[in-house]
Amino acid sequence: MSSTPIEVRRPQRWDEPFDERPLSSRDVDWILSHAPFSDIDESDFLGSASLRDILGNDTRIVRCLPGDIVYRTGDYGTSAFFVLTGQVRVVLDRGDEGMTEKISGSVLHTRRGFMGALSQLWKNTKSPEVRNLAPDAQSAKVRSKGLFVQDVPAVLNEHETTIIGAGHLFGELSALGRTPRTTTIFADSQCELLEVRWQGLRDLSRRSKSLNKTVDDLYRKDALDEQLQSTPIFANVDPAGQKRLVEETIFQNYGNREWAATYKALAEKGAAQRLKKEPIIAEEGHYPNGLILIRSGFARVSKQFGNGHRTLSYLGKGQMFGLEEIYHNWRSTDPLPYRFSLRTVGYVDVLLVPTRVMEEVVLPNLPEELIPDPPVGDVRNGGHLVSDSGSQKHTQHLEQLVEARFINGTATMMIDLERCTRCDDCVRACAATHDGNPRFIRHGAQVGKFMIANACMHCVDPVCMIGCPTGAIHRTVGGQVAINDPTCIGCGTCATNCPYDNIRLVEIRDNTGSLVLDKETQAPILKATKCDLCVDQLVGPACQNACPHDALQRVDMRQTQTLLELLER
Ligand code: SF4
Ligand code: SF4
Repeated sequence: MSSTPIEVRRPQRWDEPFDERPLSSRDVDWILSHAPFSDIDESDFLGSASLRDILGNDTRIVRCLPGDIVYRTGDYGTSAFFVLTGQVRVVLDRGDEGMTEKISGSVLHTRRGFMGALSQLWKNTKSPEVRNLAPDAQSAKVRSKGLFVQDVPAVLNEHETTIIGAGHLFGELSALGRTPRTTTIFADSQCELLEVRWQGLRDLSRRSKSLNKTVDDLYRKDALDEQLQSTPIFANVDPAGQKRLVEETIFQNYGNREWAATYKALAEKGAAQRLKKEPIIAEEGHYPNGLILIRSGFARVSKQFGNGHRTLSYLGKGQMFGLEEIYHNWRSTDPLPYRFSLRTVGYVDVLLVPTRVMEEVVLPNLPEELIPDPPVGDVRNGGHLVSDSGSQKHTQHLEQLVEARFINGTATMMIDLERCTRCDDCVRACAATHDGNPRFIRHGAQVGKFMIANACMHCVDPVCMIGCPTGAIHRTVGGQVAINDPTCIGCGTCATNCPYDNIRLVEIRDNTGSLVLDKETQAPILKATKCDLCVDQLVGPACQNACPHDALQRVDMRQTQTLLELLER
C-alpha cells in the first residue's frame, strides 16, 4: 500500500505576534527614537531575529489614560513594560490586606459571618447561574480595555506611592521569574508603554549589552539580593560574601514556559517519550558544578532503575538540589557525583550558585542545623533513597501525580474512593455556598485509590490567568485563584488555558430565571466559573467540611510529606 506523505508547514516563531498584528515599521521607528531603545546597537542582533523583528512581533504599544491599571498585586505576569512617554505610579504594598482589591475596583472578598452563612441556605434561587444585574451590584469599573482606579486622590491619601518615568522598565521580575506581580501600577498621566512579552525581553537582553546590563542589574539588585538573603543556607554569610553571591549566581531556565499548550498531547505519549521531553538540569553520575535553587516551576528527582527512571521526589520553589554532594566533596578527598538526576517538569527557573562560591563563602558559614547528614549505605548508588521509606506502589502514584502535573495544586481535591460512598454531600455543600451552583464535578483522573476531581487546584503556576483581557481572573490576597464575575466578559481564554479542564463557561440568568442576552447580538451572556475555595466562607472549603467519611481532602502538593502520608493511608 502506497502512502502519500502529508506536507505541513513548520510553525514559525512569530506566527502569532504579541499584538493582533505585527507593529508597523513606522511604529518600530517611533519606538527606536525613545530611550532605552535609541541606545541599542542594531548590529548586535542576528539577521534571523533582528531588533526590528523583535520589536515588531514581541511587543505592543499600550496607551493609557490617567488611572488605568497596568497590573495589580497578585496578577500573573509574563511581560515587562518600558515607559515611552508619560509616567506611571507604583502603589507600595505594605501588607495592607485587601488593599489590592480596594484600589483596583475589583472584588473585595470578605468572609461571611455566621448569620450570612445561614441565610445563604434559603436565599439560593431555583434557576441556575442567576446574577444580580442592578447597576450598583457591579462594583468594579471596566473601561474598554481594562480596569481603572476609581478614586485616585483617595489612593494617594491612603497609600505610599512612587513614580516611574519615561525610559524606565518595570514588571521584569515577574516576566523573567514567572512570579505574581508584587505591586499595583496605574497610569499617573496619559502615557504610552511598550509591553514586551518575556521571549522578546529575553532576546533583547541577550543581544544588547546595554539593555542586558540594565535588566540584569535591576534583577540582581531588586530580586536576587533579597531572595538570597531570605534563603536559610545563606543566613550566616557576611556582607562581602553576599555581594559575591549576588555577582556570581547564574540564572538558568529549562523547558517551555508555555508548557500548558503541549500538556494534553504529551499526556497521551508513553512514559519514555515523556521523560525525553524533560530537559535534564543535573545528571546522576556527573560531578556537581553548583548548588541548584529552584526559583519557580517544578523539577523531578529521579534515579536510574533498570532501563528507566524511578521518581523519588519533586522539588518546587525555594527547594534545592546537590547540597549533600557539594558538602561531602568539600570535606572528603573521595568526591561524590550526583546520586540522582534532576529533570524539568514543564518549565523551571533555577539559580546556580557555583561550587567554588559555595566552598569559599557558604559552606564555612553553614548554619549547624542545615549541615547535611553524610549519605549512608551505598552512597554511589543513591545511599538512603527518599523512596526507600515508601512502597513501590506509592512511588508509582507519585510518578503519576508528577507526570499529570497535579503537583501544581495548592488545594488539589483528592477523594479516597475506598472511603467515598458517592453520597454527593460534597457537591451539594458546594452548591449551597454558591447560590445553588456547584463549582466542581465529582469526576476526574484516578491515581491509585484517589480521584483527582475536576475542581480548581489553585495552582502555584496558574496558567489560566495568562491573557485574561480584563484581569477578572486573579489571585486573592489569601492566594486563591478567583474570578470577579462583574468584570468577566466570558471570552473563555482562561477555560482554554487551564490544562486540567477546571473552568466552565455558563449562561447567566436574571432574577426571573430568563437568560441574559447581549443587546447587540442577542447571544446569551457567558461567564467563567470555577471553584473559589469558598474564599468568602468562615470555615474554608465546604466540600471538605461536608464529607461525612473524611474521604475528600484539599491537598497542598508542596507539602510532600503530607502527600506521601495520604498516599500511604
Ligand atoms: S483554573 Fe486550572 S490552571 Fe487555573 S488555578 Fe485552577 S486548576 Fe490551576
Ligand atoms: S472568560 Fe476567563 S479570561 Fe475571559 S474575561 Fe472571563 S475570567 Fe477573564
